[in-house]
Amino acid sequence: MGKKNSKLKPEEVEDLKKRTYFTEKEIQNWYKGFMKDCPDGKLTLEGFTKIYKQFFPFGDPSKFASFVFNVFDENRDGYIEFHEFLTALSVTSRGSVQEKLKWAFKLYDLDNDGYITRQELLDIVDAIYKMVGSMVNLPEEENTPEKRVNKIFDIMDKNRDDKLTFEEFLEGSKKDPTIIQALTLYDMAQPQGQG
Ligand code: CA
Ligand code: CA
Ligand code: CA
Repeated sequence: MGKKNSKLKPEEVEDLKKRTYFTEKEIQNWYKGFMKDCPDGKLTLEGFTKIYKQFFPFGDPSKFASFVFNVFDENRDGYIEFHEFLTALSVTSRGSVQEKLKWAFKLYDLDNDGYITRQELLDIVDAIYKMVGSMVNLPEEENTPEKRVNKIFDIMDKNRDDKLTFEEFLEGSKKDPTIIQALTLYDMAQPQGQG
């Protein structure tokens, strides 16, 4: 009762097919799942955080979820609309390594000025550690956010100006694939089995 039988318009499907790596069937399935969870077509930060909480019940994923939310919410209106949801999902799950790294860079570059500062990276890494909680045992040399950030900057910050450009980030990620850890964590946190 009261369930809206809303379907995507054909032109919306066409548009999403162009902008994502999903097939029409997958798009329709994701849409069904999305509308089931968010009948008004808008995913709020609260709802988004809830998804993460299911996957990280022993930690506190709220800070990390809010950072990821901001990358999803491209037009920054405070909601994730379906097309925002699907395009982000497409990149993080099926994008090329380069696309995934671009996405990760956007996530880490919190003020969106084209550089990742130590503080920005510290914020993100701290959020990840809080989210994971006691789920994983980290090696001694990276068991605090500060140590991990220092390690990343040692590897990536070629010109030692305490900022990472996308080029530095890209080069460094080739040397240390664990850098995209945030994304792998995100893969784990994707709502599964919808549709
Ligand atoms: Ca939005
Ligand atoms: Ca920045
Ligand atoms: Ca630099």
